[in-house]
Amino acid sequence: MTVNETRISIAERRRRVCIIGAGAGGLISCKELIDQGLEVVVYEAAECVGGTWVLRDQDGGTSTSYSSTGYGNRGLDVNQHSSMYDALHTNLPKDLMNIPGFTMGDDHTERYPHRTVVRDYLQDYCDVCGLAAHIQFNTTVTRAEYMGSSVACKDAEIHKLYYCDRQWSVHLLTNVDGVIEERVERFDAIVSANGHYSQPRLPTGSLGQQLKSHYTGSVIHSHRYRRPNGYEGKDIAFQPTTTQCSLHHNGD
Ligand SMILES: Cc1cc2nc3c(=O)[nH]c(=O)nc-3n(C[C@H](O)[C@H](O)[C@H](O)COP(=O)(O)OP(=O)(O)OC[C@H]3O[C@@H](n4cnc5c(N)ncnc54)[C@H](O)[C@@H]3O)c2cc1C
Repeated sequence: MTVNETRISIAERRRRVCIIGAGAGGLISCKELIDQGLEVVVYEAAECVGGTWVLRDQDGGTSTSYSSTGYGNRGLDVNQHSSMYDALHTNLPKDLMNIPGFTMGDDHTERYPHRTVVRDYLQDYCDVCGLAAHIQFNTTVTRAEYMGSSVACKDAEIHKLYYCDRQWSVHLLTNVDGVIEERVERFDAIVSANGHYSQPRLPTGSLGQQLKSHYTGSVIHSHRYRRPNGYEGKDIAFQPTTTQCSLHHNGD
């Protein structure tokens, strides 16, 4: 195939984009890329959209977000993805959180709404924009490999041509009611919208040692906090870190 033939075939092919995650970032990316005429597939490990804003009472109770046996077993443990807790209200005014052209709530909605308002807002955005048809739920991206060309390109136009021809190999694991399927898909580009707050990190080193020796009660990371039940009458200490804080209480 000549360079010109390659150029024509690439130009005619509709670009495929993979988006990892159907939280706020993934949904907005999906809408924008569809509007650009791209073929978009969103892979979401959970069974619904919303990401962080979906409260899950179940808590696997381990310090990692992933199955201890790795992706190959059952994929992302969605019960441990979010740091959301029951009573959370946003820490930004709703107007600042609006997706352009899509207003959150109405005049009666609190300025700092409850988490459920944001969760419903993201679901509404998905519905109104018709995004669900592009989302594959219960599907975890376990690996993405860049299948780049090794051809050295000096010419700017040729470089662009080769860049467009390169693809990503995306490894997927679908888990529906415990039935696992693995497959691989090819894409021209990937949008990583998998969130930032799914890996709790408890202090290590001397601070970790101090915690162990000073506190005889239980120690949890704020990532695992859901509601105040069970903490009644206890002495509680908070250990703030740069982006998160841990919650300690004595065992009595
Ligand atoms: C407690 C808390 C309070 C917050 N309060 C505010 C606030 O008041 N205002 C504000 O603007 N922001 C707030 N944020 C920030 C919040 O993170 C953003 O608002 C936004 O929800 C982030 O969206 P996201 O799409 O980047 O990630 P997420 O919402 O985390 O979504 C990521 C999605 O990717 C999926 N996923 C992850 N890995 C994979 C994989 N390998 N394969 C397939 N799917 C995968 C997850 O299941 C999830 O659905 C808060 C965050 C937290 C934790």
